This record gives sequence, C-alpha cells and structure tokens, in this order.
Amino acid sequence: MVITVASGKGGTGKTTISTSLTYAISRKREVAHVDLDVEEPDSNIFLKVPIQREEMIWLPLPVIDYEKCTFCGVCQRVCEYNAIFVFKNTREVKVFDQLCRGCGACKEMCPFDAISEIQRFIGVFSYGKKDNINFYEGRLNIGEYVTTDAIRWVKRRLKEINKSEITVIDAPPGTSCPVIQSMKDADYVVLVTEDTPFGLFDMKLAYGVGKKMNKKMGIVINKALPGYKETREFAKREGIPILLEIPFDKKFAKAYAEGITLSEFSKEYREKFEEMFRYIEGEVKNA
Ligand code: SF4
Ligand code: SF4
Repeated sequence: MVITVASGKGGTGKTTISTSLTYAISRKREVAHVDLDVEEPDSNIFLKVPIQREEMIWLPLPVIDYEKCTFCGVCQRVCEYNAIFVFKNTREVKVFDQLCRGCGACKEMCPFDAISEIQRFIGVFSYGKKDNINFYEGRLNIGEYVTTDAIRWVKRRLKEINKSEITVIDAPPGTSCPVIQSMKDADYVVLVTEDTPFGLFDMKLAYGVGKKMNKKMGIVINKALPGYKETREFAKREGIPILLEIPFDKKFAKAYAEGITLSEFSKEYREKFEEMFRYIEGEVKNA
C-alpha cells in the first residue's frame, strides 16, 4: 500500500504529517518512508534513520562525435526541451546540461550515429533502516532543475529494493510534474493544508490533480483555526474526509523546531495517527 502525503504549497507541515504517520505505523508494522521532496528532503531530520548506503543519481547526457556529425539539425528538431542547438556556421552542436532531460531522442534520431551518451551526476539516493522504518531519500544537487527525472530514478530503484508492504511518500509541494510523479502509484493521497484562504486555494489545486488521477484522498488540517469554516465546507461539498485536525499549539511548534515527530512527542497524537492509518488501510482494502 502506497500513501502519498502531498500539499498544494510548501510550509503546510507536510513533512510533519508524513513522518508522524510513518512513526505511528512503525510502532507495530514495518514501513518504508520515501522522501521524494528531492529539492529539499527533510524527513530524516525527524526520523533520524542512520544512512547505510548512498548511490549517485545519474541522467544520460548526449555527447557529439564531430567526426561523424554533418550538422544536419535533426537532433535540435526532435528535442522537446530545447536542450540541443546546432550552429551550422561555427560547426558546433551545443548541449545545455541543465535543460537536457536525458530522454535519448536525439541519439535515437541522429541519422549519422554521431551521438553517444555519458552519465551526468544530478543527485544522491540514500537509504537506511532503523527499527521498523526503511528510509529512502532522493536529494537533487543544488542548482539542478531535473526534479521529475530524479524522482523517476528513485522510483525505479525503489522497485528493486523496497520490499515493505506499506510505503509512505513525502511528495514535493505544489501541483507540477514532480507531484504527479509522486502521486502516480499512490493508493491513497493525504492532502495537508493550513487553515487559511491561501492554504485552501493551494489545496484545491492539489485536490484537482488527485481527482484527475482518480485517487482516494483525505485531508489533514494543520494549524487548524476554529473560526475558519471554508476548508471544512469544501471537504463536505466534495465528499472528502477530514482525517485529522491539528490545532496551532506552541508545544507542537517547539517539537517541530527540535525535529521530533508529533507521534513521538504526544501519545494522544500517536494514537490519532494510528487511527488515521487504520482508516486509510480500510479505505484502500475496500477500494
Ligand atoms: S542529428 Fe547528428 S548529425 Fe545531425 S546535427 Fe545532430 S549530432 Fe550532428
Ligand atoms: S537527450 Fe533528450 S532532452 Fe537531452 S538533448 Fe537529447 S533530445 Fe534533448
């Protein structure tokens, strides 16, 4: 079972929720926690799993053989990402590393077999185990934009090594391609939102993505404000369950600042996260 924890925007407390859920599950069951927020993975600040292995994340990068290249321009025409340019006058083919997605189309289509590939290092994949938690994290190198490709790489590798029956994914914030990649295999999506008009607006966008992908979803309201009714009204209108409401509380903020999950910090919340998991499990089983 794959549970993806997502949010329409950053700063909603998504990682607090995903790590608290993982921690609560791990008290009784083995669980994989996958941090796919590759631009800023911070789950392990909370889970504190010792990293046992690191692997480099690579992306293929085209290299031109000028002995064979005729500067025909086919590679430039087939590249959907404007990552390769042919300068006929100066007889040069320029590949822009940061734009290249390593799709291989230019190599496939070059009529003169003038393109080979090298591997470009774009990030690090780490993993480790502590108690019942199998922890995996993708981390993109600073200045890289190939977020979706790094996530794809991590997911491919996970297929080979992740044997846990339950996987919790911490998705990147927002609603763009990396989020779609992170939701793709989810049996259930937990949408984390702040109880504000901005929070609701962004959560609606994330909900729209999940709905298009036909995902079962539930909402966690973080820093819940009793006077703000719109989030609950939206949930009611759309028929989405509110899985948990966490009020704004200085104690929780302190625990967060100290890198402690809510489930670890508070028995009451550990039980709430356990209950939330049981509900999700039931929903997935009945799907
Ligand atoms: S398609 Fe091949 S031969 Fe044509 S410009 Fe590109 S690298 Fe050179
Ligand atoms: S590998 Fe793909 S993205 Fe990169 S230059 Fe070639 S066609 Fe463009």
